[in-house]
Amino acid sequence: MLKNKRALVTGSTSGIGLAIARALAAEGAEVILNGLGDQDEIAALCEELGATYNGANLMEPAAIAQMMADIGTIDILVNNAGMQHVAPVEDFPPEKWDAIIALNLSAAFHTTRLAVPGMKAKGWGRIIATASAHSLTASPFKSAYVAAKHAMAGFTKTIALELATHGITANCISPGYVWTPLVENQIPDTMAARGMTREQVMNDVLLAKQPTKQFVLPEDVAALALFLCGDAARGITGANYSIDGGWTAE
Ligand code: NAD
Repeated sequence: MLKNKRALVTGSTSGIGLAIARALAAEGAEVILNGLGDQDEIAALCEELGATYNGANLMEPAAIAQMMADIGTIDILVNNAGMQHVAPVEDFPPEKWDAIIALNLSAAFHTTRLAVPGMKAKGWGRIIATASAHSLTASPFKSAYVAAKHAMAGFTKTIALELATHGITANCISPGYVWTPLVENQIPDTMAARGMTREQVMNDVLLAKQPTKQFVLPEDVAALALFLCGDAARGITGANYSIDGGWTAE
């Protein structure tokens, strides 16, 4: 389905991004991985997927510009890299705020602005953001993350309108809780912020949000991304697809 398509998936050395990279590669796309991690493990992933890797630190606009110049024209851009920090707003470290806005929001602006000219030249493109249920609703102690994800939803709608006549779609996928390192790593801070045990955080904070009482699977998020890359999704743009076990239905 994606033969002759080149896809950059940011933050694809782990979690949801890796699942999306696997799904795109399985359909024949030439995938460019990005993200942090152990270099031997990343080399093994490249071999598994027939992919290449660019290790740009997406918190640095100059590094993003260099990455986009190095990789050349792409057909599919998945803005997926992200991080979380959990703390009450009065204790929220300003440097964490800046880091989350840089990675979860500004990086997507920079990759997009640099990818769009090549997509316009081809008259085809797919831009997908891994947003979040937190692009639609809020939770306490996640001020930077919720701000960045709401902004991603607005950014995506804006570029969808700008690109609508160029064969380029732009959409958000908004997962609820997916069991990945990003979720696992926020459990200790959430325990501290709320004075809870690990089990209480799992059941009363995380899964409490999801009527299905199940974590979403990275592979299911990837299947939705793959659908949005296909021809049948040519008329879908500016949309924000929830895949959250019913969280935002409440
Ligand atoms: P993860 O921690 O497994 O993966 C994050 C990826 O981002 C990794 O590949 C990591 O190396 C990369 N990354 C981190 N800092 C980077 C940097 N400075 N430069 C480049 N890459 C960097 O997390 P995940 O859960 O797979 O999250 C992926 C996306 O999905 C994020 O945008 C996250 O907000 C979103 N999301 C996750 C969940 C969830 O429950 N896990 C829910 C909704 C949305």
